[in-house]
Amino acid sequence: MAFVVLAGLHHASPFSPTNEVLVKSLPYILLPIVVFLGELFNQSRTSLAAILLLFSYHIIQTWLQSPLSVPFTKLAYTFLAVALPLNLIFIQRLPERRLMSRTSVFFLCAVLLQFIGTTFLIDAIASFDLTLVWQQYLISFPLISKLPVAIILLFIAVLTFHAMLIFKRNQPHDHALFISTLFSALTLTFFHYPMISSIAYSVLSLLLLTNLISCSHELAYIDQLTGIPGRRSLDTEIKHLGRTYSIAMIDIDHFKLFNDTYGHNTGDDVLRLVASILAKQSNNAKVYRYGGEEFTIIFKGRKQNDSMRYLEKIRKQVEAYPLKVQDHPKGEHSMDNDTVSTNITVSIGVSDNHKMDNPHSVFKAADQALYRAKSNGRNQVCQRLHS
Ligand code: GH3
Ligand code: MG
Ligand code: MG
Repeated sequence: MAFVVLAGLHHASPFSPTNEVLVKSLPYILLPIVVFLGELFNQSRTSLAAILLLFSYHIIQTWLQSPLSVPFTKLAYTFLAVALPLNLIFIQRLPERRLMSRTSVFFLCAVLLQFIGTTFLIDAIASFDLTLVWQQYLISFPLISKLPVAIILLFIAVLTFHAMLIFKRNQPHDHALFISTLFSALTLTFFHYPMISSIAYSVLSLLLLTNLISCSHELAYIDQLTGIPGRRSLDTEIKHLGRTYSIAMIDIDHFKLFNDTYGHNTGDDVLRLVASILAKQSNNAKVYRYGGEEFTIIFKGRKQNDSMRYLEKIRKQVEAYPLKVQDHPKGEHSMDNDTVSTNITVSIGVSDNHKMDNPHSVFKAADQALYRAKSNGRNQVCQRLHS
């Protein structure tokens, strides 16, 4: 999309003077919103990136408006193009802390120091004839870009690094840092197009905002541990259940004992495992983590008898799964890595809405059926007994 915008730009500004002022101020308005929302949604690395971008946008708007043939401007442009991707990598390495934390304040001070140091350096060397340096080390092809090839390669390397992290672990700030690097690269590579920085930084701010909003939605609706929808999604879903449905409650058997024996972290792994088995097997049904070691499955358009087959299949799958766990209890730091094989089981209660007033009564009936499954010896599926 950015390329289409670029193609339309060429050399004259495409905006009327009033619109030009508006477009130029957009990043000044949008980036602080990104900083604020990032902090609100515990995405301080996105906030730090936005502060860095705001700072660089201000440098572009104030210092880099004269032609690049002016030595001072050319040096400032080159230093900015090196500092931006490197600082965006640095943010990637920071732990997730609040903006007022020591780490974040340290980072911002480091940026300020770089700025002051670079200003002095540029002042000191701007009067020298640097033709040799430009020709030997910082060659560029002005027809395509004024940015030295070496720096374009640096941008490509940093982009590849962020992209690899997206593939590897896919966290919200990985996306934020990737798009920040991409749009900084586009801005500085195609710097000779009028209004490029304002347009690119505005689009970038909007993308960062979208990224923040979508991850805040995920925070609210997706269970962090298991990655499947959580309680809030379930609460929303029960408002749209339709005429016939059944609800199953699944509870891991003796899970407290499992945690006590193998440790809480292994317990967490088991929760993830059960969630993935449920999600895979649920066949047109929706699976939620109800809370703790309990899960809920909603079968729309299906009576409890029809759901039993799937639930029985799930129960058997969990029972048959060969778990490999560390053979030492919680808290003990054993040096040997002996693993043992064990199994877990689940008990399931299910009820449909036949002769029921509302979903809450169905939940209650499923819970009572689950209670029966537990007291009958666990590792079984029980359904509501129709009166
Ligand atoms: P029952 O067969 O009757 O269901 O016994 P239980 O031990 O599974 O049931 P109980 O309700 O006594 O204990 C549930 C345990 O689940 C207690 C708690 O330590 C564990 N648990 C709840 N949430 C989590 C979690 O997020 N991670 C881990 N590792 N354990 C959890
Ligand atoms: Mg329980
Ligand atoms: Mg349990």
